[in-house]
Amino acid sequence: MLDADFFRRWMTATAASVDREAERLTALDSPIGDADHGSNLQRGFTAVVAALEKEAPDTPGGVLTLAGRQLISTVGGASGPLYGTLLRRTGKALGDSGEVSAEQLAEAFRAGVDAVMTLGGATPGDKTMIDALVPAVDALGDSFAAARTAAEEGAVATTPLQARKGRASYVGERSIGHQDPGAASSALLIAGLAEAAGE
Ligand code: ADP
Ligand code: MG
Ligand code: MG
Repeated sequence: MLDADFFRRWMTATAASVDREAERLTALDSPIGDADHGSNLQRGFTAVVAALEKEAPDTPGGVLTLAGRQLISTVGGASGPLYGTLLRRTGKALGDSGEVSAEQLAEAFRAGVDAVMTLGGATPGDKTMIDALVPAVDALGDSFAAARTAAEEGAVATTPLQARKGRASYVGERSIGHQDPGAASSALLIAGLAEAAGE
């Protein structure tokens, strides 16, 4: 079973990798965006870790809803509300139990990803974070490690696509040949999950 501490580790592992990879995320956002994705998420996840230390929620749902709230209020840009919705909706679906199973997490995360698609209007193939998140959700029933691999492959597979949503869609065909920054950061989020699980 997965307790609040597992979810806290997920968030701190993600914050650490976002810190390490911030320059790469911003570099990906430079040719097809406004070169702020790394700094946006770095600010957001720094706030997430600080809030978790201060408030110390004692349920998985509490950890994710607090994290989502922090992302919405600190990130700005398209990715803040989208990642915030992902974590808040997932947290809400987990309810207020003190421990949840991996199956419950997989189901709740699917609800979270669905909420991101509803909010942003993107579907797989639009060259967004959805291209990493949907394959991850589909693999989550197998293992956290399988979800990490699926998210990484999904992120890499955005490179040849033309963006149909978000700022990258403004550059039209010139978005082809560049990996989507949000798909790359989603792969970090799922890698953080696998790391929390020790996989
Ligand atoms: P902004 O584009 O406002 O500067 P960021 O650079 O932080 O915001 O985030 C950009 C990322 O957000 C994109 O790479 C993409 O993955 C994701 N994104 C943008 N619009 C959408 C959308 N409508 N649906 C899903 N993801 C989106
Ligand atoms: Mg940007
Ligand atoms: Mg921006």
